[in-house]
Amino acid sequence: MSSISSLTGGLPLNIPASMQTSVSANNPLLLANPFLPGNNTAFPPSALPSAGQDQALMEMVINLLQQLLTMVSGSGIGAAKPSGTSPMVDNSASVNRPLKDGEERYQGLIIDTNSFDSGEVDDLKEMLDAMADDPDGAKLMKSLVAKGYTIEKDSSLKAIAQAGNGVITIGPGALTGDKGYLLEVLGHEMTHAAVDDPDTKNQESIASTLGRRIRYRYEGKSSVYQDEDGMDVTFDGSSDAEEISYRTGIRSARKNDAYRDLPENSRILDQLSQLGIDFDFM
Ligand SMILES: [Zn+2]
Repeated sequence: MSSISSLTGGLPLNIPASMQTSVSANNPLLLANPFLPGNNTAFPPSALPSAGQDQALMEMVINLLQQLLTMVSGSGIGAAKPSGTSPMVDNSASVNRPLKDGEERYQGLIIDTNSFDSGEVDDLKEMLDAMADDPDGAKLMKSLVAKGYTIEKDSSLKAIAQAGNGVITIGPGALTGDKGYLLEVLGHEMTHAAVDDPDTKNQESIASTLGRRIRYRYEGKSSVYQDEDGMDVTFDGSSDAEEISYRTGIRSARKNDAYRDLPENSRILDQLSQLGIDFDFM
């Protein structure tokens, strides 16, 4: 299995199992969505200030610009969005939603504890602690908390994990008992979730590289992953290793049925930089 796909989960593209190069070879991750239904009622007359038409007009213009910015930058229907999923989901609406039975708020995120087996929730919490303690992981967490993200398990998920529409879904493949791997997977999916953009090859590769960076810091030792030719690659957290991880990920995505048709590039690096997460090799 290739390095990037071993990380990424996600089946969202409706890719037939026969097209997937391995159980873990798909990931699609999807993303948030842009339509912000609440904004449809952004201009009720009662919302206009009484201070005068000029001010009212100015506020309308600002409001309109904010909406446009939201639509242009914050969103995009994920290329990997599973069919049947409503595109009209407002991530921000769930931030303070009441918890359902079995849900628990932890590190600001919502965990659907009922969907996990016993013991798995403890591992997940431990890795969310590790994420929050990591300088970059904390920035991803902050973004997801602001969006009201929920983490749940889907035992039938063939992908390792996926993210989108306010939910990170963990498949059994991420819960192997290797907590470092779970952390890496969370880092990958949280990267997708934090940027809310359609998936691309470089987004996949950056997500994998950032997940490895966070795992490396947590474990304090080199980890090994496989490149697209099945060769072991040692990741030691250095800028050189990150560049190799990134280049390998791009090549793997081009070969992987699940990613081959994705656009090459996105604004992922700029978007992460805005969150304070940077890559020295770029
Ligand atoms: Zn991915």
